[in-house]
Amino acid sequence: IILFQIWGSGLKYNVRVICQRQGPMKTQNGDLDESKNLPIYQHKATLQQAVKDNSFLVVTGETGSGKTTQLPQYLHQAGFWSNGKIGITQPRRVAAITVAQRVSQEMHCSLGREVGYQVRFDDCTTQDTVVKYMTDGCLLREILADPVLSQYSVVILDEAHERIVYQNKWWDKASKGRCVPLKVVVMSATLETDKLSVFLGGCPVFTIPGRTFPVTSKFSCAIGPKDTESSTAYSLLYIYILVVKVALDVHTSEMAGDILVFLTGQSEIEKACDMLYEKAESIDYRYDVQDHKVEGLLILPLYGSMPTDQQKQIFQPPPPGIRKCVVATNIAATSLTINGIKYIVDSGFVKQLNHNSRVGMDILEVVPISKSEALQRAGRAGRTSAGKCFRIYSPAFWEKCMPEYTVPEIQRTSLTAVILTLKCLGVHDVIRFPYLDRPEERFILEALKQLYQCDAIDRRGKVTRLGELMVEFPLPPGLTRALLQAASLGCEDLLLPVAAMLSVENIFIRPGHPEKQKEADKKHRQLGVQAGSCNDFTMLLSVFEKCKASDAPSAWCKDNYIHWRALKSAFSVETQLREILLRLQKRDFPMEKFDGNKSELFRRCLCTGYFTNVARRSVGKVFCTMDGHGSMVHIHPSSTLFDQEAQLDWVIFHDLLVTSRIYIRTVCPIRYDWVKDLLPKLHEVDVYELSSVAREEVTDEEVAKWVTKEAAKRQTEGSAEDV
Ligand code: ADP
Ligand code: MG
Repeated sequence: IILFQIWGSGLKYNVRVICQRQGPMKTQNGDLDESKNLPIYQHKATLQQAVKDNSFLVVTGETGSGKTTQLPQYLHQAGFWSNGKIGITQPRRVAAITVAQRVSQEMHCSLGREVGYQVRFDDCTTQDTVVKYMTDGCLLREILADPVLSQYSVVILDEAHERIVYQNKWWDKASKGRCVPLKVVVMSATLETDKLSVFLGGCPVFTIPGRTFPVTSKFSCAIGPKDTESSTAYSLLYIYILVVKVALDVHTSEMAGDILVFLTGQSEIEKACDMLYEKAESIDYRYDVQDHKVEGLLILPLYGSMPTDQQKQIFQPPPPGIRKCVVATNIAATSLTINGIKYIVDSGFVKQLNHNSRVGMDILEVVPISKSEALQRAGRAGRTSAGKCFRIYSPAFWEKCMPEYTVPEIQRTSLTAVILTLKCLGVHDVIRFPYLDRPEERFILEALKQLYQCDAIDRRGKVTRLGELMVEFPLPPGLTRALLQAASLGCEDLLLPVAAMLSVENIFIRPGHPEKQKEADKKHRQLGVQAGSCNDFTMLLSVFEKCKASDAPSAWCKDNYIHWRALKSAFSVETQLREILLRLQKRDFPMEKFDGNKSELFRRCLCTGYFTNVARRSVGKVFCTMDGHGSMVHIHPSSTLFDQEAQLDWVIFHDLLVTSRIYIRTVCPIRYDWVKDLLPKLHEVDVYELSSVAREEVTDEEVAKWVTKEAAKRQTEGSAEDV
């Protein structure tokens, strides 16, 4: 067996091929003409006409029918661009980028010219751009700046089932301030189109008839209901091993056809790819493999933060005789369609941002997928011929652990950004706002409370001047608050790099090998010591500055076990945050004076935003949070303050990691004095008053109920003074 690495760009998982033929393989381009074979093609003229005739249109069709890549091109061909841009929103940034790339190829232009994309911190558009893919967040931002979207002729809201906060009344209003009315197309793969149509005032629904082939699903007994009982049993370690085993079985015992594996996240995917690679090496293709046409395995990872040039390879057909195996996150379920998939390996889990009521924050959790999600995953195998889906979980797991439907993101995550945006758009009644998927009221109230704590809204729920500045930053509210505080004190140079570092993927490399790990830890500790006054925020600042000042930054990173790619993104993010800030500073920007100790300046700025994340050491290494949840937390081992707990009293932290224990990450010691005056804000805030603008019409009975509930809650929490 000869082993080679093709398209070798030095990255470990780039592309791995094991096969029995010699000589390097040619990279092939996806067939661009294939677009004529897509189900949507036959309906081109009808769709073009339907958009001309209607202000609102719902388009639905199986995933992979060509909605995302083709419809914008059809509208472009129909001349819509002459009245303004054609904008398409995607729920995920990777999808926006990949699809824009594909469409620019199909339209024979370079990316960023006629076809471009814009996602958080990455704008690849020019004056020439007429077909623009972007994330929902980017569109919302554009709406803030220009409520009638005068630059657009059509806005396509893709994968609308994922999350949508737009309001039909608003779109009506948007159309009135324009010469040519705005066209809005809402696309979704799910069958909830009736709900969408009603939401948009009963607009027409166009269904692209799909062709799908049967997919047979097989359960296994590897994961059962018991496995989800203790929180550590979700041990990713063990899920990825199971998945690798099944994928190898498929490779050796099934006929030719590509495999798509659904796993949870980047690190599990990389580990699975490694393991697959290792195991596949020992396959003897003469004896071990059923189908003699199969001569090798091409292993490709796919996750959100992957460089886009590597993502491109996912779509290329494998060389003849080679079976492609893509190991992906949920992104391959609806947003991206890979041709040639005949087999699915479904881990049954997904990594999801959830609001965790135990700790009162949004955290990434690994949870069982819903039944509808499992069906969607399986369906990916039946696009071009009959397929098979292998599930690593049992029928009992399906019955007992998997919910019927996935809860829309808007209903399970913090709403602060959404609520603040709505408020800035002039929607005060955020409680009775006609959400497509109404979030629970307690989440809305929670968001209002957080916005109040960050001074983004006042006691009456009205947006403050600070709130109007805050909405411009694509950052969590606490971090934005700290950044603005620093800017008003003239020390934004301290906070901008930190905000950037916290917005990119983890920058510290922790190698799997125990020896290397020790060395990495040592290097990181040294960096910490050099950072002087040691806490995790100054550590981030120091790494940023050191690397920036270095003559050979990539070598410096390698030497210090730092992800160069992540740091490069951080540099770019920092520049962009700085640009936003400069733009705001031209407006009437609040300035303050600081008369405290200069060395405290940085940490005190952090306190303005992070006083909601404050903890005090109770006994030993255990800290107790002060936000009313009173969670018992530990400092995460990755922190520079790990093992120095005994010297600490009060700390603030950036986020939480929940496993069997609750860990706080990115930690900074503070003095009680600095947060003393802020802490009462955590408890005194009257959520009722905050939402009063929105509640003028509630009945007395409701108010009475609410007041009793709040009073009971306060009693169990105790007052700020008690802690
Ligand atoms: P839908 O939005 O209806 O789910 P898409 O427009 O995303 O469908 O996909 C239509 C076709 O375009 C699929 O066959 C898919 O494989 C192909 N395609 C999409 N993106 C790429 C890409 N980056 N490279 C190659 N083919 C792609
Ligand atoms: Mg799509």
